[in-house]
Amino acid sequence: MMKLADIIDENVEELAALDTVDNGKLFGLSKDWEIPGVAECLRYYAGAADKIHGETLKMSRELQGYTLREPMGVVGHIIPWNFPTSAFFLKVAPALAAGCTMVVKPAEQTPLSALYCGHLAKQAGVPDGVLNVITGFGPTAGAAICSHMDVDKVSFTGSTEVGRLVMQAAAMSNLKPVSLELGGKSPLIIFDDADVDKATDLALLGVLSNKGEICAAGSRVFVQEGIYDEFVKKLSEKAKTWVVGDPFDPKVRQGPQANKTQFDKILSYIEHGKREGATLLTGGRPCREKGYYIEPTVFTNVTDNMVIARDEIFGPVMSLMKFKTVDEAIKRANDTRYGLAAGIVTDNLNVANTVSRSISSGIVWINCYADLDMDCPFGGYKMSGFGKDFGMEALYKYLHVKSVVTPLYNSPW
Ligand code: NAD
Repeated sequence: MMKLADIIDENVEELAALDTVDNGKLFGLSKDWEIPGVAECLRYYAGAADKIHGETLKMSRELQGYTLREPMGVVGHIIPWNFPTSAFFLKVAPALAAGCTMVVKPAEQTPLSALYCGHLAKQAGVPDGVLNVITGFGPTAGAAICSHMDVDKVSFTGSTEVGRLVMQAAAMSNLKPVSLELGGKSPLIIFDDADVDKATDLALLGVLSNKGEICAAGSRVFVQEGIYDEFVKKLSEKAKTWVVGDPFDPKVRQGPQANKTQFDKILSYIEHGKREGATLLTGGRPCREKGYYIEPTVFTNVTDNMVIARDEIFGPVMSLMKFKTVDEAIKRANDTRYGLAAGIVTDNLNVANTVSRSISSGIVWINCYADLDMDCPFGGYKMSGFGKDFGMEALYKYLHVKSVVTPLYNSPW
């Protein structure tokens, strides 16, 4: 795994370019951040591989007991197209460290980097048969993994709708355990004491990063009434100067959407928002003559029950909403079927503590947004799924706990 990490470091540009060609994501960001992060991920779990152990149990009777952590066996990893290389290694690295073998099915839209990573793994000396990459469509290749009697665990990242099918197939075959990293509609709550300049930057980054194709996108932005007007003015100025274009150009901040289906889906949500009576503050249209480019789009006058405030759009579209009190913000932020992430902007410690403990989501960022760290578990509550990527939690998801019990003194036999 350490060797593979070194090989990834030597292939940063190639991997970043493959993902940009396949997905439209910014080449510079992939090269400087995402792909180096993948090598870090391999090193993190390589370091954990020889520290997997159980516990000695304090049994209440005269028994000696301890636990072992054992690899689950053959793991099926099914991943989406928005972060192709990182999604690949966030699954593969902890499973390898746990001692599992695996079949990885990349998304049909972005198979290139996964195939290249398979080739690099071979170069690093990963034995044949341990890490297998199978390309193909979801209802065929993906479904075959989920219903296979010899697959012992499925680790899935993708939409909530497909997550349901994955769980169903697991239940109807060998009852394999599944972990589901699913969609979100995450709130970013900005309180009156926030620095409006910084908060608008954070809000834009939260929803426009990776052209909004990010599961943790802060797509519902709640702003307290005292700074709301100033916030709207600054946000609109900044959104209008956000540069959309060729993802290989270092000046560009937003590339094209990953594919036509995605492009059409986002535009239809924008039309829906307009029909529902929300006000377009900025954007709302395709831009540039060729390619799946969409203007950074901000809606105001959004109500909590509008479709654009409830559905995951997975594009550069923000719903901006005004609130009065802390309690109101908590109630409205939690009014969603999802629970992946949330953000809070305030210097008031009491407010930060109260809100972070009251939000039903797998992660809460205070005065930052979408800051991930290898050591920090990431994964949802509610219909955003269960089971974590990142951190030691991700390693444990590929390990069974076995208890071993023996009489402490004389055996009855
Ligand atoms: P998707 O669910 O359509 O596809 C994801 C993967 O599942 C693909 O590899 C696809 O081929 C496969 N698949 C499709 N149908 C299948 C089936 N019947 N059985 C087995 N596999 C099947 O999702 P998508 O559009 O590729 O990705 C976007 C979604 O992923 C968004 O909802 C996003 O929020 C979510 N996502 C979540 C996280 C997270 O960590 N929570 C991270 C990234 C993306």
